[in-house]
Amino acid sequence: MNRPVFRFAPSPNGYLHLGHAYSALLNAAMASAAQGRLLLRIEDTDESRSRPHFVQAIFEDLAWLGLAWEEPVRVQSEHFSDYEANLARLWRMDAIYPCFCSRKKALAHALASRDPDGQPHYGGTCRTLSPGEAEQRISRGDVHGWRIDMTRAADAEATVWGDAMIAKRHVGSSYHIAVVTDDALQGVTHVVRGMDIEPATPLHRLLQRLLGLPTPQYFHHALIRGDDGKKLSKSIASTSLRALRSDGATAEDIRRRLGFN
Ligand code: GLU
Repeated sequence: MNRPVFRFAPSPNGYLHLGHAYSALLNAAMASAAQGRLLLRIEDTDESRSRPHFVQAIFEDLAWLGLAWEEPVRVQSEHFSDYEANLARLWRMDAIYPCFCSRKKALAHALASRDPDGQPHYGGTCRTLSPGEAEQRISRGDVHGWRIDMTRAADAEATVWGDAMIAKRHVGSSYHIAVVTDDALQGVTHVVRGMDIEPATPLHRLLQRLLGLPTPQYFHHALIRGDDGKKLSKSIASTSLRALRSDGATAEDIRRRLGFN
């Protein structure tokens, strides 16, 4: 029997907080209950926000919590060519197109409707570029991202995103294409992550369908809130695992506080 594969996939753009601890512990508990495997993946494709010391801190904080994961750990910034290969496949099937618009230009020509993140839908300026012109602009080095052509995808669930950017300008890749590529390459069968990412799941399923990849089972857990009821954020240092640890909390305290004992 193939063992189920779970993964915890933090982005190293801040210190892990209680919400991450909950997600990681939940993945570990579900993997263990299913006699499955647990992977750790570092999602550092956003080069403007990722920092090596946060990667180191992820390893330290998770080990301190008592978690174990398989080695080697996949680090997304080492695999841009895998994401580029899938982007090329999607472009060949006309499911995506390169977008050369600056943020400002995209906003100026945006539609009145908005996506689940509250951003206005892209107006489609670059959707009508001829393949020849698009190729010419790419080979001359014009900065571009990649957008899904939702007018062709005809996907009822993902259409709330409009022509979503699945790979960003200035970086080789971005979250949506990278997460879908890696979950498939790593044989992930169960994606357990916070409810904040749930709206993106139809987009991930659409990319899996287009690329002929298996769709894992998705489970989105409730978010851990601070004592003030607000969503935790990496910018609030007080709930970081490091801060709690230096205030004297033990891993046992954290696990109990999050309901794992
Ligand atoms: N890297 C994402 C984050 O830290 C999570 C991605 C996922 O679990 O699919 O928010």
